[in-house]
Amino acid sequence: MNAQTRPIAPFDVQRVRADFPLLARQVHGKPLVYFDNANTSQKPRQVIEAVDRHYREHNANVARAVHQLGEEATAAYEGARDRLAGLLHAASRDEVVLTSGTTQSINLVAYSFALPKLQPGDAILTTVMEHHANIVPWQLVAARSGATVKAAPIDERGELIVEKYLAMLTPEVKLACVAHVSNVLGTVNPVQEIARECRRRGIPLLVDGSQAVPHRPVDVQALGCDFYAITGHKMLAPTGTGALWAKREHLQAMPPFFGGGEMIREVRFDGTTFAEPPHKFEAGTPNIAGFAGIGVAIDYYASLGFEALHAWEQELMRYALERIEEIPGVRIFGTAQEREPVISFLLDGAQATDLATLLDLEGVAVRSGHHCAHPLMQFFGVPATLRASLAFYNTREEVDAFIAALLKARKLLR
Ligand code: PMP
Repeated sequence: MNAQTRPIAPFDVQRVRADFPLLARQVHGKPLVYFDNANTSQKPRQVIEAVDRHYREHNANVARAVHQLGEEATAAYEGARDRLAGLLHAASRDEVVLTSGTTQSINLVAYSFALPKLQPGDAILTTVMEHHANIVPWQLVAARSGATVKAAPIDERGELIVEKYLAMLTPEVKLACVAHVSNVLGTVNPVQEIARECRRRGIPLLVDGSQAVPHRPVDVQALGCDFYAITGHKMLAPTGTGALWAKREHLQAMPPFFGGGEMIREVRFDGTTFAEPPHKFEAGTPNIAGFAGIGVAIDYYASLGFEALHAWEQELMRYALERIEEIPGVRIFGTAQEREPVISFLLDGAQATDLATLLDLEGVAVRSGHHCAHPLMQFFGVPATLRASLAFYNTREEVDAFIAALLKARKLLR
């Protein structure tokens, strides 16, 4: 074993990779290098088997049947809530609303929490680095209510200018929003500090945790925010799963967003009453098999340990950054002090999409485009970037293959 292949942290990446069947496949005759993890993660066999097992052995609807299968399906679904509450260090499992993902979680807050409060002249504060999911729902409810959406600026390093964010927390702001980790830059925002200042001013804070939970331990009570939105498919779980954690007092006060089965106490034409939160927000049949998978995904993270996983990812990111920085004519977007392994960049004279297409021919999957962050692209003055996003199951050898493919692609495009 030479220095290139020796594990660089106490983390057995080869053993972990063996759990991910898809990582063994070839693409265009080349071993797959999957560096599109910020888009969606791959799934370990434990999660795939849990979904498969659900349909083979336990399939039934939740909370409707008293038969054995219904109880088993409900146990898997409610078990996911317990695991999510544990993952986020929620004070209670009843603070966890199961959703289809971050987009639904944020829209739930927009329509159920924000919209009823908003008056003309009010504002919602977000930031320039947000994913569209943390911008557009606010614009929609602002348009309905006469409120406005304000965006706190960032600097050239891709860091939030925190003093500016805090200065923008003026009395007309009825809700503040921020990503925990940027999906384009990897920047980790100082959520605890922001939450402290929001509390001082009596402004509730929503955190988009989509890109944080796959990489680091999260404790919503220690962070001190009011809402924390996550999506399952970026953290080893099936698509169509996610959660909104919210303080109990908010969930108690919020009216339902979707109406239908499962969210009621009694339906009468002279007045329907609703179930207690979180069920009040969970109308209809959910992605039960997906939630059976998310529970197992969280157990999988626990078996690895976030400390070891994070150390490995950080080593890998530093190595990837070093190698990318060696390339003449490279421009890296985002050089924040504290960051997760998401690297956006461009090469002189090459379109991001052309590079991504050529990388694909070498088996390397990266994302090119605006990454659902138009305002951030506008800030940097580019229409698109190439984004390599790493996960704990990636290796140094994959970074080397990615760099070799990149150099080859650049040569072809010159
Ligand atoms: N916020 C961030 C920071 C994201 O990266 C994403 C997914 N790209 C979302 C929100 C939306 O997540 P979903 O599509 O799973 O709802």
